[in-house]
Amino acid sequence: MSILDKSIDELIYDDVEDTEEYRDSIATVDGEGNRNWIFPRKPKGKYYDRRKWVSYFLLVLFFATPFIKINGNPFLLINILERKFVIFGMPFWPQDFHLFVLAMISFFVFIILFTVAFGRLWCGWACPQTLFMEMVFRRIEYWIEGDASTQRKLSKATWSASKIQKRGLKYLIFFTISFLISNTVLAYIFGIEVVMDMVTSSPASNWGRFGGMMAFATVFFFVFAWLREQACIIICPYGRLQGVLLNNNSISVMYDWIRGEPRGKIKRGKQDPLLQEEKGDCVDCNLCVQVCPTGIDIRNGTQLECINCTACMDACDTVMSKVGKPEGLIRYDSHNGIENKQPFTLNTRIIAYIAALMAVLAVFGMSLASRNAVEATILRTPGVLFQETEDGFIQNVYNIQIVNKTTDSYPVELRLISHEGEIQIIGESLSIDEESIAKGVMLVKIPKEIITQQKNRIELEIWGNDKLLDKTTTSFLGPMVLNYED
Ligand code: SF4
Ligand code: SF4
Repeated sequence: MSILDKSIDELIYDDVEDTEEYRDSIATVDGEGNRNWIFPRKPKGKYYDRRKWVSYFLLVLFFATPFIKINGNPFLLINILERKFVIFGMPFWPQDFHLFVLAMISFFVFIILFTVAFGRLWCGWACPQTLFMEMVFRRIEYWIEGDASTQRKLSKATWSASKIQKRGLKYLIFFTISFLISNTVLAYIFGIEVVMDMVTSSPASNWGRFGGMMAFATVFFFVFAWLREQACIIICPYGRLQGVLLNNNSISVMYDWIRGEPRGKIKRGKQDPLLQEEKGDCVDCNLCVQVCPTGIDIRNGTQLECINCTACMDACDTVMSKVGKPEGLIRYDSHNGIENKQPFTLNTRIIAYIAALMAVLAVFGMSLASRNAVEATILRTPGVLFQETEDGFIQNVYNIQIVNKTTDSYPVELRLISHEGEIQIIGESLSIDEESIAKGVMLVKIPKEIITQQKNRIELEIWGNDKLLDKTTTSFLGPMVLNYED
């Protein structure tokens, strides 16, 4: 544009570049609202290698856990549909709901505490989404389609035999892994036996079950083939919570802006620092942005999209070594750590969270220790009064319910321990099968002369295989006692 074509405003004012444009948009969406597909460069470096080993361990754990049994129980079973929960081989029943609530509270306090102190360490190192996306699916993609630039070219290329072959192979492997993941997740819900039965029987034997399994696999395929980083940025509630959980002392993947700025490229032939302009250590190579799977520039500070995957740390360390500067321009640190050179300390907020966590864990531990594997509820049959028998007893009728949370079966014996008296089971003798509920009716008979009041509490013990299984109390009604005063 010639100077003659400029308006007076344009001649007076110099447009200052808006350096905070990144605040108005996310890297994965363009100005028109369309998806910006991210092609991150393949990460390389010591953190990536460490994450690989952690991921191998966690993946083996994920796929192997459904096969682990403790005392015949699965190690972990979360069957929401049938309300059956087994954690560390311990079955939890709806009767243990208070324990479940305590476990959930402990879990959430732990998450908050962990995030306040260590930011999104979980996201980068242990979250199943990152684990599968970055350590399984992305690596398959690099193997089939090559690094970022080749992937970008392939994406833009018109459909050819080679593109169909590459994409077809990639999606076939993606779907196979999604199928494996879906079956493993189903094993955590219904148990490995049910899933093995589903997998080994013909789809025609149960189209409904087969359809459910394929629907699950398709959801995982969709997440890893298409949704990808959007799951962390838009959907994950933990990611959305970062803004309120992180503070200036939280450890996170951070760019050292004190050391790095003002950024600028090294002038070729003037590597000697004395010949360089006054510049920070960041050589503005943009590699940290190119490796980022969520497409952000960590130099803009901690951002909601950052999953702490460490790829930018590795990339920057490589650059720093190359230009002869110390590694760690992008590193694990806190805002205060960088700005004030303050080392990580336990502040009041973290100490308060630790205290709350300890208190909840103590209550949870005590409740767990006092939890009975067999739980009996004995209540007087509603609407039935006491009876006096001809042989001098008062009898009450009771409904019995015994929950057996173990994998053992017991013939049950009830003993009245608070009073002299007898117990008669009505009908067949009581026994409880493994992981089941037994119900029955019984009579409790107590000699008339020891029942001195209308309302009495009696104590009973439940025995099975010569083992005391549970103790319980219930009410026992007697005749009304009238006191005549002279
Ligand atoms: S900014 Fe760095 S740590 Fe955060 S997601 Fe991007 S590459 Fe990973
Ligand atoms: S990789 Fe390091 S040197 Fe390169 S732009 Fe990022 S922060 Fe600067």
